[in-house]
Amino acid sequence: MQTSRLLLPGLIEACHAVIVANADHLGALDRAIGDGDHGTNMKRGSEAVYAERDQLGGLPLPEAMERIGMLLVATIGGAAGPLYGTLLIEMGRRLRAGEVDVPLTETLPPAVEAVARRGRSQAGDKTLLDVLYAVQRAVLKRSPPAEVAVSATVAAQDTIAMKALRGRASFLGDRSIGHMDPGACSCALLTGSICRFLEEFPSA
Ligand code: ADP
Ligand code: MG
Repeated sequence: MQTSRLLLPGLIEACHAVIVANADHLGALDRAIGDGDHGTNMKRGSEAVYAERDQLGGLPLPEAMERIGMLLVATIGGAAGPLYGTLLIEMGRRLRAGEVDVPLTETLPPAVEAVARRGRSQAGDKTLLDVLYAVQRAVLKRSPPAEVAVSATVAAQDTIAMKALRGRASFLGDRSIGHMDPGACSCALLTGSICRFLEEFPSA
């Protein structure tokens, strides 16, 4: 836990880098089946967290996660902000409730459930939730980080064939088929970044 906190600024930097590098791509995905703002939304949120990375690293991990969640809600906006925010806030709350002994992995299922409630969405709706469920399954199987990252990428790819049932893309009906969901893509990219970081710093 202590190590996780000390490594947090580095992890934030890694997540920020992947969002900045892929903002245009996320925008293009959202232009195809939404309103085109997912890249700029995610970049805005990422910049806000990146700007506070040192202060966040000085907080106990549960508080840091809740603070990141609140920053994401306030800055990403759109549909994705409250969903990513809920994930982090809930994980932080669970960690705090269990004090220091609750592994981060145990906080994931209730946090993912909170995201589903918040979005009134479920698996197969072609959203970022499809990636979160895949990550959760891999984490609960105790897959190594590299495999968790692969399952996130596969889950994002799998949204291409789906018809969107939630969010703006659902307005397109069958025309949403054939495009990757932008939120699923950002979620897989962030998962990849976090997993690469965890491989580099296994104690995190
Ligand atoms: P907006 O749709 O308001 O423009 P963004 O473009 O930032 O917001 O985010 C769109 C992404 O949010 C979608 O690609 C999808 O993954 C996710 N999303 C939208 N609505 C929902 C929902 N009800 N449940 C889960 N995820 C959703
Ligand atoms: Mg959008």
